[in-house]
Amino acid sequence: MTAHILDGNALSASVRGQLAEDAAALTARGVQPCLAVILVGADPASAVYVRNKVAACEKAGIRSLRFDYPQDADPDTVLARIAELNADPSVHGILVQLPLPPQFDEAAVLEAISVTKDVDGFHAENVGRLSQGQEAFFPCTPHGVMKMLEAAEVPVKGAHAVVIGRSNIVGKPMAMLLLRAGATVTVCHSQTRDLAEHTRRADILVAAVGRPGFVTGDMVRPGAAVIDVGINRLKEGPNAGKLCGDVDFESVRKVAGVLTPVPGGVGPMTITMLLANTVESARRAARAQGV
Ligand code: NDP
Repeated sequence: MTAHILDGNALSASVRGQLAEDAAALTARGVQPCLAVILVGADPASAVYVRNKVAACEKAGIRSLRFDYPQDADPDTVLARIAELNADPSVHGILVQLPLPPQFDEAAVLEAISVTKDVDGFHAENVGRLSQGQEAFFPCTPHGVMKMLEAAEVPVKGAHAVVIGRSNIVGKPMAMLLLRAGATVTVCHSQTRDLAEHTRRADILVAAVGRPGFVTGDMVRPGAAVIDVGINRLKEGPNAGKLCGDVDFESVRKVAGVLTPVPGGVGPMTITMLLANTVESARRAARAQGV
């Protein structure tokens, strides 16, 4: 068997095309979707993520505002900016790029963002709403994974899904979204015994570990859908400097039924779902204004 490779770039382009139309329609009604992005410090990876997010907004007709602060910024200054953006009706989404420098209480910053503008879906209230099956902004990476499964027509209802990783931004919300969609979900992590025993029982296997090539072909059930969330930069060897996922692509593609590549898989969908959440927030604001 050779896995069907899911093209995240192509899916992303098609979803973004629709979002650009939605954004244009809202703008014509006087409500242009707007995302405010806050970056603290000079972490090069964070700077690239922020640049990509801002560029993606502009391309989709979403207004973006960018606020940069130095590494030694006073948390109160950033919290004051968030309060200002919360109160500004022309702003529909607020994103604080993580990680923050050590003087910040990350959870407190995320809680300061209005739950109605929390387009990253990290606010505790959004997390609670997600787990209770209520309307919520879903965190962008797992939301993008669900879109990919849907586009590839991978059955989720009744499937056994195994998620490796239990972080707040990927593993836990991923498990919650799969559960919401009717899967039976197993969550694995660094303390899990006999990991391969679990992964080999998965119809859907999601790897969010942060270790290059961690999932190998012998850990995968034949025909399974394998979603590689990992983004790792190889430090040594002939491919040093290149990006790779948590899945050993060559061995897994021979066993899986469906597989996402890295790069070009889940990565592009993450930004796409940020745009989708921002447009959705603007749509709700327009509805509330009666336009
Ligand atoms: P974290 O480091 O926060 O979490 C990693 C998880 O993997 C933890 O739950 C950890 O378990 C688990 N883990 C580590 N080692 C093992 C092991 N040997 N066996 C089983 N589980 C293990 O990472 P993130 O969730 O933030 O990110 C995961 C990956 O996804 C990274 O490569 C990251 O770069 C990528 N990523 C990609 C995105 C995208 O847009 N595609 C967006 C966000 C992240 P424990 O909790 O016990 O420590």
